[in-house]
Amino acid sequence: MKGAASKKTRTSRSIAIFGGTFDPIHSGHLAVAEAAERLFYLDATYFVPSSRPPHKKRVELAAFSHRYAMVALAAAGHSTFIPSLAEAPPESGVAEAFYSIDTVRRFRREYPRDRIYFILGADSFLEITIWKSFEALLDSCDFIIASRPGFRLDTVREVLPSRMLGGKPACEPDAIALRKSTVHLLTAVSSEVSSTEIRRRRKSGASIHALVPEGVEDYILKQALYR
Ligand code: ATP
Repeated sequence: MKGAASKKTRTSRSIAIFGGTFDPIHSGHLAVAEAAERLFYLDATYFVPSSRPPHKKRVELAAFSHRYAMVALAAAGHSTFIPSLAEAPPESGVAEAFYSIDTVRRFRREYPRDRIYFILGADSFLEITIWKSFEALLDSCDFIIASRPGFRLDTVREVLPSRMLGGKPACEPDAIALRKSTVHLLTAVSSEVSSTEIRRRRKSGASIHALVPEGVEDYILKQALYR
């Protein structure tokens, strides 16, 4: 038994970190994660709700416990989707902002043999140059960028400073070779769903059916969230 376990930990996996506010998690997030899993042969996708996202201007977020519970409900039934507490608030005191570079480093320490991808939508990637230590972040793992309505994936190239670009072209058409990593453009998904739209619908009393997984819809109704 011990031998089997240690053999398993020695095997390298392809894993993804999918960070977000997830206020709430919705079918667009899941469509992106499913497409990424299929196209990049991911063994696990870690959904990392942030207790205090540094780049969100909105001050009023649903409690971390609610957002985490919804992520866990959305992940139920997908054996490779894992809710992560990597950016959970501390048990006492106020959460400081969590930065993606620290989260990636934490996963690197925890899973040193794994190939790590970081998933994010085009809207988030277009702001990456204002993220903490963005150059170190871009050097630290590969990226999967999902297209979002209103964002051209070509613009992803334009935000990157030329010093970050690799000397050689990437080996796939929908990829950009950086100096130490690769940015993969995920064109297979185009979902208009956003958490903003779900919160707006709840406020106006409209249905959110099919915009979130069933368990998440049930949770939002039972907890009377976003009214
Ligand atoms: P809000 O509407 O509150 O800004 P959101 O729908 O963008 O929220 P987040 O939790 O902020 O959801 O998103 C986490 C990550 O998922 C971000 O990188 C975001 O760009 C990406 N994302 C969210 N919805 C989609 C979608 N429909 N298609 C592609 N990427 C998405």
